[in-house]
Amino acid sequence: MLSIPQRADAVLEVNLAAIQANFKTVSVMVGPHVRVAAVVKNDAYGLGIIEVTRALAAAGCDLFFAGDLHEAMAIRSSKIGATVAVLCDQFTTLRKYYRSSRITPVVNNPSELDAISAAGEPETYFLNVETGFSRFGLTSDDVRRHYLSGTFKRHPPSVVLSHLACSNRVADAMNVLQSNRFRAISNLLKPARCSLAASAGVWLGKNFHFDIVRVGSALFGLNNAGIQPNPLLPVVKLQANILDVRNVPKGEAVGYGATFRTVRDSRIAILGIGYKHGLPWACGNKISARFAGYSAPLVGRTSMDSTAIDITDIPEAVCLPTVSVELLGESFTVNDLAAAADAYAPEVLMRVAAGCARRYLNVPSALIVKSQ
Ligand SMILES: *Cc1c(COP(=O)(O)O)cnc(C)c1O
Repeated sequence: MLSIPQRADAVLEVNLAAIQANFKTVSVMVGPHVRVAAVVKNDAYGLGIIEVTRALAAAGCDLFFAGDLHEAMAIRSSKIGATVAVLCDQFTTLRKYYRSSRITPVVNNPSELDAISAAGEPETYFLNVETGFSRFGLTSDDVRRHYLSGTFKRHPPSVVLSHLACSNRVADAMNVLQSNRFRAISNLLKPARCSLAASAGVWLGKNFHFDIVRVGSALFGLNNAGIQPNPLLPVVKLQANILDVRNVPKGEAVGYGATFRTVRDSRIAILGIGYKHGLPWACGNKISARFAGYSAPLVGRTSMDSTAIDITDIPEAVCLPTVSVELLGESFTVNDLAAAADAYAPEVLMRVAAGCARRYLNVPSALIVKSQ
């Protein structure tokens, strides 16, 4: 039988030790009395929920927020002995699975809270309250109504949480408004624990930390608030293979829309990476690839599964088909790529991670599962 080898022209290398280091950096930032929960929704921002949660658990993380019930159950079945909460997923209809897998729901609306309060015995749950995002969470009116009817006495939430809309802008008045509203609700409910900040909120200072910070982006090396000097380690490296090298005479166009024209006789290398791998269409003509100490600009628009770079100034011997070049790494991060493409860094990371083959570096030894 003919077996065709799978090509992996675009590879995302995920450094699990860097994720662990970022977890420690955030833990030191918030101090010993604040718990750092890892947000691993959407397959850990595309990086692989099992690999990432195991590495974080090995680094001491004991609270995970999954995006949906499937993700939470995947964490459970990988035998991680941590608290696993689900940010938002059909709690009222899927309740029996939450129970049987010991998964903590985040209650996001009055009907979910009604389901909790209708239960005979108390059930562990987190309560999300609305303070200025208008997405999920009970309004302060909902909270007051349930407070007066005694719901929280009979069924106290173990964590009350809310989400900041503008925490990547330190001076934004929204931060103070939301934290004031959050304090008013938590003073009323007096829950065991409170949680307001996500990644950028960690850098807003002690007043925003409460008992738990919920961190996603920062663990994955994204510095969305532009903190300088950047305390986070980059987590991913993106590499793509050169598929072909061609000579293009002076004055010829490269790629869709002829957005680039050679100004001299040029050598152009075609990389096996395009927007299907998550490389933004808008980064054409704006960024460079690096290899062997050289830098080669992307020229023309990104195609679906290929991209052109100008290698005219690079010795022929170093750029041959099958050589791999770096598009993301220490010197050019996901935040830099997002800025160049006028995009949002977590979205860029998620798309690149979903579109490329993934390879893991520094897998903790407890994580290596022998295939039989
Ligand atoms: C996604 C999310 C987070 C994590 O946000 P980052 O900015 O990536 O750290 C925290 N809390 C909630 C409710 C979220 O939806």
